[in-house]
Amino acid sequence: MTENIHPIFDRLLQRTDREKRLNQRSKVLWLTGLSGSGKSTIAQALERRMYNEGFFAQVLDGDNIRSGINNNLGFSIEDRQENIRRIAEIAKLYLQSGVITLNSFISPTKEIRNFARSIIGEADFIEIYINAPLEVCEARDVKGLYQKARSGAIKGFTGIDSPYEAPENPAIEIKTNETTVEEAVDKIFKYIQPIISQ
Ligand code: ADP
Repeated sequence: MTENIHPIFDRLLQRTDREKRLNQRSKVLWLTGLSGSGKSTIAQALERRMYNEGFFAQVLDGDNIRSGINNNLGFSIEDRQENIRRIAEIAKLYLQSGVITLNSFISPTKEIRNFARSIIGEADFIEIYINAPLEVCEARDVKGLYQKARSGAIKGFTGIDSPYEAPENPAIEIKTNETTVEEAVDKIFKYIQPIISQ
């Protein structure tokens, strides 16, 4: 059966080969926080900053995940778990391809974030707490969701009738009611730059 054995002329491409090609080290930045705390705003500004600084990053958020691959999932405990499982698996694929992902999801409980961390791997998972008081998030009410949650039109909304557990030991915490978006981006970028540089 030797005719079926292809000559091995090179080893399989590794993550490190792809990272070298992109001149970076891939990581998963995991932004957690209440709805309206500023995760997506910061993730998008950070993506732009990283691009300008020569890094290759991709935001994963509700807009490109919940509306696409996860559009069959709701907000029950099981569906939130499945939502995060798929996101973490996608982030892991990006990781293997050398791309940095900026994951912007409420991911409200320690259990759910630990689940993501266990899929991605401790060494590559950087937890960033985007923190703003509930009153601030509710006053911003970017998508009108808090009003709907208060009126009962949405059930199980994080911060209203579903708990949010703050991370105990995040790599970075940003208080968005005390910092501008630019300051937040600068703080995160300065922290990750040495980690993602070759
Ligand atoms: P999330 O993704 O956490 O649900 P968004 O980024 O969609 O939150 O919304 C946050 C809102 O708060 C935006 O309207 C943004 O302009 C505003 N905002 C005010 N100050 C900040 C800040 N320092 N960082 C991030 N967002 C801020």
